[in-house]
Amino acid sequence: MPEISWELLHAQVEACTLCPLYQGITHKVPGQGDPHAPLMLIGEGPGQREDEEGLAFVGPAGQLLTRMLASISLPRDRVYICNAVKCRPPQNRTPTPEETNACRMHLRMQVALVRPRVILLLGSTALKATLGPDHFITRERGVWYERKGVWMMATYHPSALLHDASKKPDVWRDLQSLRDRLIDLRLYPDLYPAVSQETETTP
Ligand code: SF4
Repeated sequence: MPEISWELLHAQVEACTLCPLYQGITHKVPGQGDPHAPLMLIGEGPGQREDEEGLAFVGPAGQLLTRMLASISLPRDRVYICNAVKCRPPQNRTPTPEETNACRMHLRMQVALVRPRVILLLGSTALKATLGPDHFITRERGVWYERKGVWMMATYHPSALLHDASKKPDVWRDLQSLRDRLIDLRLYPDLYPAVSQETETTP
């Protein structure tokens, strides 16, 4: 088996025909951001703008995601962002379990390359693709899981917030919990220096 690398990941995604979603797309959307970010974000799949530009989370939901991260003082270029599937589903439908299963090999390689300490799962598809089909976003958003030293939590996808503003308080609480986890783990000390020092001196 060849050694994994970003070059291999991008070539593998570009050539992939493992599920029917590659048919009719404009661009594959592997993901982007800090390749060694402590925090990785996983969404569902590319939308129209993402398909046109070949970049993840650049449409309206992506702009909201940027503001969500800014609300906890986290610049977007300090995280790695990708989706459960790398090709846009027709009419932005939800990817099928077969499609997310087919694309999981790419997602696994991305996690292995980034080696994040924390993963934020955006929406049901990301939750099920990462933790398994028996997980449900309405029951488990805001709940932390630890797997092999990696902390994971799901919250609603930003596109859900665009359609249903009543979800905003839950997402706000999840973002606070995310920030607290990053501080507890002493990640991004340049962004949270005062709180990090306080944490170090608190008995
Ligand atoms: S969605 Fe994933 S598995 Fe399906 S063709 Fe695209 S890259 Fe391959």
